[in-house]
Amino acid sequence: MTSTPWQDRSVVVTGGTRGIGRAIAEFFARRGAAVLLTGRDAAAAREVAAGLAGATGGRVAGTGLDLRDAGAVEEVAAEAERRHGHLDVLCANAGIFPEKPLREMTAADIDDILAVNLRGSILAVRACLPAMERAGHGRIVLTSSITGPTTGYSGWSHYGASKAGQLGFLRGASLEPAPLGITVNAVLPGNVRTEGLEGLGEDYLRKMAASIPLGRLGEPADVAQAVGFLASDEAGFITGQTLTVDGGQTIPESLDALTPAAV
Ligand code: NAP
Repeated sequence: MTSTPWQDRSVVVTGGTRGIGRAIAEFFARRGAAVLLTGRDAAAAREVAAGLAGATGGRVAGTGLDLRDAGAVEEVAAEAERRHGHLDVLCANAGIFPEKPLREMTAADIDDILAVNLRGSILAVRACLPAMERAGHGRIVLTSSITGPTTGYSGWSHYGASKAGQLGFLRGASLEPAPLGITVNAVLPGNVRTEGLEGLGEDYLRKMAASIPLGRLGEPADVAQAVGFLASDEAGFITGQTLTVDGGQTIPESLDALTPAAV
């Protein structure tokens, strides 16, 4: 796909134990990069990493990280640099998406989603940037969403706020390291068939698949390919930008637009 020397790259993937994050970790491992993936449970993260290393023949390690803990985020960046000698790519991917209608939403629900999705992303970028400055190279890719930045969904207004917030952060954050050639971009997945999404039930999945012009839900690997591009050398002149990966879901003006008009 690219001439990027992936074998020289050290990559951190937050939320790499399943779903989109696991596919991102696999993308880099297959190309020879050294990957450190995280999940809240260190033993589970190590187990996923060992499985990926076995499946890809790549270099994959796992470690524990709860993004609500600022100190732990700093420790992950330090661990990547310690293990691999440098840190070149951060995929700030971990996120939660609990459904909560506005009238039932508590202050704790709001705090929790913002702490993981928004504050957690900012903490991860802040923690990894110094290592990238030392490496003289850096690619940061946030996993945002179509929900919030582009669309709205009843029951996920706090989630949408956290995901739109990531993009406000991204624009400012892309400017500070730009003189060093470090880029900060985001992918905006639509509905991607992950363990997290499957938790929303068959009914939800059926409805979503029916609203996607390309006729299917996304696969985690669809998002990983986009992340891989933004992390490549070839994407070196792209920063502060978003790449939507949604099978065209945000394009139709109405559901009628999904079927060819009668002539
Ligand atoms: P998922 O299958 O539920 O996986 C979420 C990942 O985040 C897991 O690896 C989980 O690790 C980690 N995580 C959860 N809470 C965490 C915390 N407090 N601290 C650190 N890590 C935590 O989710 P997914 O569907 O792959 O989604 C991944 C990202 O894509 C999220 O940011 C989500 O908002 C975004 N996204 C997903 C979709 C979709 O359709 N699936 C669409 C748009 C955007 P452990 O459980 O092992 O701790």
